[in-house]
Amino acid sequence: MTQKTALITGAARGIGLATARLLSDRGWRVVLADIDGDELSRVVGSFADAKAIPCDVSDPDQVAAMVEGAVAWSGRIDALVNNAGIADFRPMAETDLQTWRRIMSVNLDGVFLCSQAAIPHLARAGGAIVNVASISGLRASTLRVAYGTSKAAVIHLTRQQAAELGQQGIRANCVAPGPVDTKLALAVHSPAIRAAYHDAIPLNRYGREDEIAQAIAFLCSDQASYITGQVLAADGGFEATGVGLP
Ligand code: NAD
Repeated sequence: MTQKTALITGAARGIGLATARLLSDRGWRVVLADIDGDELSRVVGSFADAKAIPCDVSDPDQVAAMVEGAVAWSGRIDALVNNAGIADFRPMAETDLQTWRRIMSVNLDGVFLCSQAAIPHLARAGGAIVNVASISGLRASTLRVAYGTSKAAVIHLTRQQAAELGQQGIRANCVAPGPVDTKLALAVHSPAIRAAYHDAIPLNRYGREDEIAQAIAFLCSDQASYITGQVLAADGGFEATGVGLP
């Protein structure tokens, strides 16, 4: 059987690294891309069959080189996981244009650029795109004007991709994680936000990186062969209840 290859962005730590590990454990070859080249080199040695490619997903030239590097290494891309993302929580009045643009350029432009560059390879493989959005893209709350808007756009971009790329045999889906204790969340989740999530989530806890990875890996796999254009909330039930955050 042909061994499949997944290209995962933001794979040096957190949800991206957990996804790379899970896919690798399931027999995929994995390309780990991240802006943090040092951390990438540190983690890639622990994989049996992996390639590390430093890349800022908001830079078109670096993205083109990343996709070329992945194909030069493996000859194919069966799944693209657009996971790289950044967060900055602050009130709208304090969100300067530079912050807004940086969030959009990584969280939204990054998904667009990586997907566009990978299309020919995904089409050849009959592959899949999995974009990592957020429950903040499904439900509005305070402090997330840039982050939440970028993730809502990723959800719609996923649907656009499914509509357009289905004709080429490419599926596109989206995972919307609830809160997970990664470096990203630890930086922006105040004690008040943590308490609010605990109360609002039916399972009354944060998710784990490996739980989000399971949802991503499913959508990458042939088990999801007739699923495209969907948003899978891996969020302990948060989205289902309608209980609000402050
Ligand atoms: P994380 O900060 O642990 O990991 C993000 C990774 O992306 C890091 O390794 C970082 O170096 C990399 N990265 C950042 N900017 C990049 C760029 N321009 N180019 C390439 N790589 C870049 O955070 P995480 O929680 O694992 O986040 C992964 C994804 O999950 C993000 O898209 C995030 O928005 C989303 N998400 C996280 C949570 C959460 O609570 N942790 C909830 C919902 C959605």
